Amino acid sequence: MAELTYPDLDTYRREVFAREDELLKRVMPGAAAQGLPPISISPESGKTLYLLAKSIGAKKILEFGSLAGYSGIWLARALPDDGRFVSLEVDPKHAEVSRKNLAAAGLADRTDVRVGEGAVLMRDLVDEGPFDLVFIDADKENYPVYLDFALENTRVGGLIVADNANGHGHVHEALETGDGRRGIQEYNRRVATHPRLVSNIIPVGGWLAVSLVLGTD
Ligand code: SAH
Ligand code: MG
Repeated sequence: MAELTYPDLDTYRREVFAREDELLKRVMPGAAAQGLPPISISPESGKTLYLLAKSIGAKKILEFGSLAGYSGIWLARALPDDGRFVSLEVDPKHAEVSRKNLAAAGLADRTDVRVGEGAVLMRDLVDEGPFDLVFIDADKENYPVYLDFALENTRVGGLIVADNANGHGHVHEALETGDGRRGIQEYNRRVATHPRLVSNIIPVGGWLAVSLVLGTD
């Protein structure tokens, strides 16, 4: 067999471990053509979410922030046939693009994209929980609010994951009052020290903050 070579390590990692199929490859270029911003998770983050969801046998997943459904496809693909993926999205256009992409991926039967403020819509989800995995990737200032919900509505042994944990490269700095990234600083400090969580950063893409929910015993 001919040996394959790659131009750099990042390409190697992506091509070997985080390969996108043809459908995933088309999602973000298609979204850009419709005017959506190119702010989805990376393929490496997608593969990591997929691995995390699979490893805990997730059947119910909640997402804050759908955009075009890119992360949603990775997550919903990790579900069994009777699994449920709910994604909360404030922008109706993003929600529509997201629904179309999830349907194109054959996941319409197990996915539900709801339009509105995440912090409002989440209140209706208490009865639909507890969730096995909560993925937080919407407005950064509300990360602590989404964390409060996730702490109450994720099962023991489940995972709470947040994207952009490096604060777009600034989480280590003193940020201005009112800077949304301060929400990420607070989120990180809380999950790192919470007695019911075991947390760490997986430094893929803009960093995933991953927290395992422990029992109360
Ligand atoms: N998870 C997506 C990217 C999400 S980008 C992916 O990786 O593919 C962040 C999304 O959060 C945007 O679509 C934005 O419209 C949405 N958003 C911003 N503020 C929100 C809010 N208050 N409630 C729900 N969604 C929000
Ligand atoms: Mg993100």
